[in-house]
Formats: sequence, C-alpha cells, structure tokens
Amino acid sequence: MVKTTCPYCGVGCGVLAEVGADGSVSVRGDPNHPANFGRLCSKGSALAETIGLEGRLLHPEIGARGASWDEALDLVAQRFSTVLAEHGPESVAFYVSGQLLTEDYYLANKLMKGFIGTANIDTNSRLCMASSVAGHRRAFGADIVPGTYEDLELADLVVLVGSNLAWCHPVLYQRIVAAKEKRPEMKLVVIDPRRTMTSDIADLHLAIRPDGDVALFAGLLAWLARSGLLDRDFIAAHTSGLEDARAAAEELSPADTAAVTGLTEAELRAFYELFAHTERTVTVFSQGVNQSISGTDKVNAIINCHLATGRIGRPGMGPFSVTGQPNAMGGREVGGLANMLAAHMEIGNGAHRERVQRFWNAPTIAARPGLKAVDMFRAVADGRIKALWIMATNPVDSMPDADRVREAIAACPFVVVSDISAETDTIRHAHVKLPAAGWGEKDGTVTNSERRISRQRPFLDAPGEARPDWWIICEVAKRMGFRAAFAYASAAEIFAEHAALSGFENDGERGFDIGAYGGINEASYEEMEPFQWPVRADEIEVALSPDTPFSAAARRGEMSGRTKGGALRFFADGRFFTADHKARFIAVRPTPQRETDAEFPLILNTGRVRDHWHTMTRTGKSPRLSQHSAEPFVELNPEDAARFGIGDADIVRLASRHGEMLARALLTERQRRGSAFVPMHWTDEFSARARVDALVAPVTDPISGQPASKTMPVRAERFAARMFGFAVLRAKPGLIDADYWGLARCRGGWRLELAWAAEHEDWQVFARSLLGNEPTADLLAYHDAANGRHRFVSITCGRLAGALYLARAPLAVFRNWLVEQLADDQAHSRLALLAGRPGKGQADHGAIVCSCFGVGASQIAAAVGDGCATVEAIGATLQAGTNCGSCCAEINTIIAANRLAAAE
Ligand code: SF4
Repeated sequence: MVKTTCPYCGVGCGVLAEVGADGSVSVRGDPNHPANFGRLCSKGSALAETIGLEGRLLHPEIGARGASWDEALDLVAQRFSTVLAEHGPESVAFYVSGQLLTEDYYLANKLMKGFIGTANIDTNSRLCMASSVAGHRRAFGADIVPGTYEDLELADLVVLVGSNLAWCHPVLYQRIVAAKEKRPEMKLVVIDPRRTMTSDIADLHLAIRPDGDVALFAGLLAWLARSGLLDRDFIAAHTSGLEDARAAAEELSPADTAAVTGLTEAELRAFYELFAHTERTVTVFSQGVNQSISGTDKVNAIINCHLATGRIGRPGMGPFSVTGQPNAMGGREVGGLANMLAAHMEIGNGAHRERVQRFWNAPTIAARPGLKAVDMFRAVADGRIKALWIMATNPVDSMPDADRVREAIAACPFVVVSDISAETDTIRHAHVKLPAAGWGEKDGTVTNSERRISRQRPFLDAPGEARPDWWIICEVAKRMGFRAAFAYASAAEIFAEHAALSGFENDGERGFDIGAYGGINEASYEEMEPFQWPVRADEIEVALSPDTPFSAAARRGEMSGRTKGGALRFFADGRFFTADHKARFIAVRPTPQRETDAEFPLILNTGRVRDHWHTMTRTGKSPRLSQHSAEPFVELNPEDAARFGIGDADIVRLASRHGEMLARALLTERQRRGSAFVPMHWTDEFSARARVDALVAPVTDPISGQPASKTMPVRAERFAARMFGFAVLRAKPGLIDADYWGLARCRGGWRLELAWAAEHEDWQVFARSLLGNEPTADLLAYHDAANGRHRFVSITCGRLAGALYLARAPLAVFRNWLVEQLADDQAHSRLALLAGRPGKGQADHGAIVCSCFGVGASQIAAAVGDGCATVEAIGATLQAGTNCGSCCAEINTIIAANRLAAAE
C-alpha cells in the first residue's frame, strides 16, 4: 500500500494505491489524509482506470523518428544554447504546468531565471488562479490563502462565488454537505450565473450577470458601512485604505448595483443581511472569479468585505481561493509564474534577486518579469520566441484564441514537448518529444488549496524510457553547461533545496517558509506526512543528512512530522506582509461588462464537467468517467434555443470572432437567458470540432494577465445536419468521415456520436470502413431508404463487434443498453441489436448518473416510482451515490423531477 495524492484538482486528496499480485492497481481514499479523510470523488475513485499504457509516449522522438535519450537531450540543449547565443535570453521560453510536481517546477524555474537569465517561464496556472495571486499580493503583501478546509465546516455561512464546487472540487463540497447535515442552521449562498449542481443545496442562489461580482461585493462593502457594521477596531489596528475603497464602493447606488449584477434589490438585501449578521463566514472563490477581465478586482472586492468585518485568520472565517489544478499552489511557491521569483520573492526587488542568485550560486538572475501566457504565445507567433519547451500541458486546446496558438506553435522554429501522452493536439507540433513519467511513477510533492504539502509517491515502474520531469530538466541543464547546479540524484534533494530557500534569510518577512524541511534527508522525505505551511526552521525538528549544506537551525534531532505551534491560519495576529504590516483595502469599481450585439448575442461561459479533467488525456481513458458526458455539448436556455431555432439534441454551431465549434444542444432552465455554457475538455482527439478555446478571445485581466475565459460573446445556430448517427465499436476508429463526431471510451470499446450535413452516397461503404472489414464478421444491415434509416451490426463469433445506427433526426436508440452489449461476452439477439433496443426482459438504464456503480437515470427514476424519495433510499436500493457521492446532487434532481411529474 502506497500513500500518495490525487493528481487532479486543488483539493489534494490523499490516496492509498495498491498493486495486486497480478499487477492490477486499486485505489481508495486515505482515511488519515486531512484533506479528504478517506473520501474520493468520481475522478479520484477511477484513477486505476487511467494508468494504462494506451496512448503513452514511451520513447524520445526527434521529428517522426525514435531517438535515444542522449540524442534527444543533446539536440534540445544544443538548439536552446544556439538560440541563446544568437538572439539572447528573451528569445526562449518555457510553458509549464500546474500538473508538474513541485520539484519539477522548482528546477524549471531555477534553470530559466537563474541560469538562462530570463523570466520567460509561465504556466497553465496563469489560466487558473493568477488573479487570486494578484489579489492576495495587493491585499496581504504576499500570496497567502489564510484559512484551512476546516473553516468551511466551522463556518455558519459559506459563500461560493464562481465555483461549481459539487463538480470541480467534489470532496470539499462533500465536506460542506456533511457539515450542513450536522448543523442544518449553517447557510450556503451560491453566486453563479448558472444554476449548477452546487446550487441544489444552497439556501440562496444568486444568478448574477457574468462579471457582476465586483459590483456585488462593492455594494456589500457600502452596505456594511452605511449600516454601521464595520469592525472599526480591526480596521484601525490592522488595515489601511478603507476610505478610498468605501468611496469607490459608494459610487454605485443600490439601484446601480442591482442593474450591474442583474439581481433584484431584494436579493441583494437578503445576501447582504446574511453576510452582515453571520460572523463565521467563509467566502470561497474559484474560476468564475479568476477567469475574468476584472478577476483581480473581484478578489479584492471579496477580501475588502472580510477586512471590513475583521473576519480573517479566525476559525470559520476568511476569503478562500480554491485552485483548479493539483499543484497550482506548489507552482506559486517555487515562482513558476513569469512575474514571480522563487519562494515568494519578487523579481522587482533587488535584494530578493541578489538573495536568490546567491543561494543558487547562479551566473545570472532574471531582472524583470517575463512574458505571461497570452503574451508568450503572441511572441511565439511573431517570431520573438525561437525555442519553446512545453511541459505537461496542452496549450493548443487550453489557451484562448487556440487556433492562433496552434498556428504559432506550428510555425515556431524549435518546439520541445515533454509529456506522458503521445497524441495530444500540442505534441503533434513538437520537433522533439520527451517521454515523462506519470502519476503512480513519479516521486515528489504537491501543495493543495489549504497550503498542505503532500507526497506523491511511485508505486509503478516508469514504462518504456519515460523519466521524471526533474531528471529531464537536469539533463538538459547539464548539457547547457550548468552541471554543478543541476547535479541532483533524487526528488528529495530538490525538495530539500526548495525548502531551504524558503527559509533562507527569512526572518518572518515572507509567509511561505518551510525552512524546517531544508536539507531533509531521503528517509525523512520518504516518510513525510502531509503538512501545512508555514513550518519554520525553529518550529519543527527534522532528521537531516549530516552533510547537508542547508538550514543549520533545522539540523537537530528527529523528525516529528508535526508543527509544535500548530498554527494553521495566517493573519490571526492581524499582521500582514506589507511594509507597515497592515492589510490593504483596494478601491475597486466595476469594469464595463463584455457586451453582446446582434451578431454575437450570447455570452459564452466555459468550465468543467463532473467526471472529466482538463483535456481528457487521463480521464478520457476511463470508461466509467467517459459515460457521464460522452460528447461535447452546449447548454442553452430553452427560450434562447427557441429564438435561434435550436431543438434539444440538435447539433449547434457556435461562433465568435476568433473561431467556431460544433456541439450537441442541451436545453436547460439552469442556464441563464442570454448565455451559453460549454465544457473545456474536448480536443481533436475526442471530437471533430469542439475545442471551445478556439472561440475565446485572448483578452486578459490587466493586473494578473489571466485570460477572461468565461465571458465571450458568441452566436449559436442550428447546424443543418441531414443525418445523425450513433455507433459502438470494439476498436478505436481511425479517420472519421463526418462533419460532427464525439468519441468516448466505454466498457468493451468506444461509443461514437455522428452527424453530417449531407448524406453519404452509400452508407454501407461508410459502415464497413467504420466497423471494420474482419473476414470472420457478419455484417447485418437494415435499410429504410425512404425515411433515411439505416442500421448495421457487425457480429464476430456470436458477439457484438460493432454497430452503427443512422437516421435523419437525433437518434432514439438505447445507447446504454448497446454499450452494455459491447462489454457482454454472451451471444446476442441479432434482432434486438439490429433494432437498437433491448429485447424482452432487458432494459436500458438511461444516461449514467452514478459512475462508480454504473447506475443510470432510468433506474433512478424507476426507483423513485417505487417509492424511494431520498438520496439515501436510492443508495440503499441501487447503491448509487454511496461511494464517492459526486452524483448525489443529480440524484436529488431526478427525484425532484419525477416526484413533480407524478404530482402533475
Ligand atoms: S476532489 Fe476528486 S479530483 Fe479533487 S483531489 Fe479529491 S479525489 Fe482528486
């Protein structure tokens, strides 16, 4: 049994992984990990399904040919060195990732800022939480998340702003649900333009206009001030700038606030009353706040209200940023963003630069901020960047203006990609591909949203020639002439140096301090328990290697793994990291919201679905996870859909001034009128044209540089499909000759949705090319040419090998029953298969709701009809919702819908 950490979201759940005698892997939640206490969500529970070697990059490649590690590393070092010699340090860039481990991140940053001599290293974390970083630094003087997860349970009011916690941070959501069940008087407010699954347990859902958050919280500050509810003692002793912030906030009348937020004055008053009179309040914010042209101001508008009420640093209180990525926080600690130095030091501070350079014994140090993500790819496009190394991320899909980013990478003279996947939309443009070790193979640490550092430990051998990212960076650095500074033998050595730097000449001036672990030895690193920073050198005793050069103060005694002080919250003493140690109120005003017009009448919001992660390089391998949302979709309000002539399940063409895409229409009242929602996960590997970031403009927050990914004006129109198709297949299809398609893993193979603008001349030819031409296969066919219905079923040895169903309208075949037949080893009823519907005594379970136990919507509806009226009753009958609990909100929705239908 190996204790490790989930590689997905910023909750950072502890995982116990075990490799059986037959080599099979099983995972379960670590009951002793303080982030999750044994819980895992659907994604974490399915981790074992995502570690297969299918699609893995196993050997270095140069161009289209295989290469040895020496050959590939020599070429990377030589090309970067040549570009540096000819064009200087500003001509190279690294684009890295919140999926890297802290040790990898630390070295990438060290190489770029201390040895190459530029800060042109940025990360996909720029797309995730850069506005939170900027907001924290403005208010606190440092990038500090003050609270802990426990505060979410201790609070009497939890305010979720721009956060679909139920799907994006499910275990935190479960912790809130459990706390609310114990204390029903605890209140939850959800502020989100969409009525997401998170809203289902909310006492108040404010369906705010996109980007109305600054006005909402400025209005709250003004209301608190007007009502005499400011904490005057705290403000006087520990803050500055209230009057300016208050004056800015009072520029909006209550009526203005209502207009900008799209909320009624009664709704505003209800929220303001609740906030004002609930001392134990935590405000959680996530991508809906960060991914905005006013993201940093939103963060400060929220923090202003907590400072105004003195609700920070105490149990059950505080502003709380939760990160999307597993190690966005670790990246922040090592200075992985282009505008930061290592260990929370600042590029703009000469003393900090000198200190870091001296600590690293580096030949140089970046003297000014580098290019942030959007600017970096602009520089790639216009030729300023001539050598680019992309690590563990997929910018061709995830960056805004993704088509231009793709063109820029394709035109860049030298592109290196290190990744675990051989088939991403980015790696196909690489001149050199470097196979990285993946989750389960890597050794290192990650930091979660509550500042808790946990180990990721290997339990599998790295396959093929895959190597840890830190090793790859070191080998390139050594070949570039920096041998001594990159002569690490293990992840433990790197962590020891990173920890020592955090405590280096740190007399309390910097909040990030894990100096106690400076110089930690291999054995202690191996056993290291999850811990929250800070852990200063004088707070803990760590067993150290006797010859460590770092942190003499920590070189005493045995490792206890626990802080002696136990201080988990920042700012309890009212002391901040600004020059005068006071927190700063920031005067914020609403910026003009992005407007729609006649050509682009909808605001597009992008986000995540429950069971997928980023660009699906990992979750796309899991049949369980791929069933919940099996194709790209766009959520539209039914009134908008009617306005644009779009019906449920139609194919929709979405277009902006930057690009277009196709997705299935999903009509729902949960979607605010005038807006659309599309998930960010689909790539060219899983769909025909569904890269949503191709539509998103490269518009950024002026302070943080974070792209505004959630407010893009677009238009939606019905794609004039003449033919629709659904297929199940044992083997992954090659080239798919269709205008629209969405491919998803399922048990036993793949499922495929299709649509065409024009009919094929001969569907039999298409069916044969899709289903394969195995000589032993029987291809059964049914044609109703007059009505445009065609069905094909391929049977091999009595078993279903593949099936294709075609019709002129969205198909009503029994998808989940067909998927089950694919996985079933029994002989099948040919008639039922050809009809695409279950035979007598069989049933289609409907769209999968509970991924853990494969329970479908029809089963749940039937159980409700049989008298199950609660989630617990459904769990007792069908098991649904009893493992990870990620589907409980949806089960509730089905119960409510069916009870309503029964009552009507
Ligand atoms: S909430 Fe889910 S995805 Fe996030 S760390 Fe925990 S198990 Fe992983």
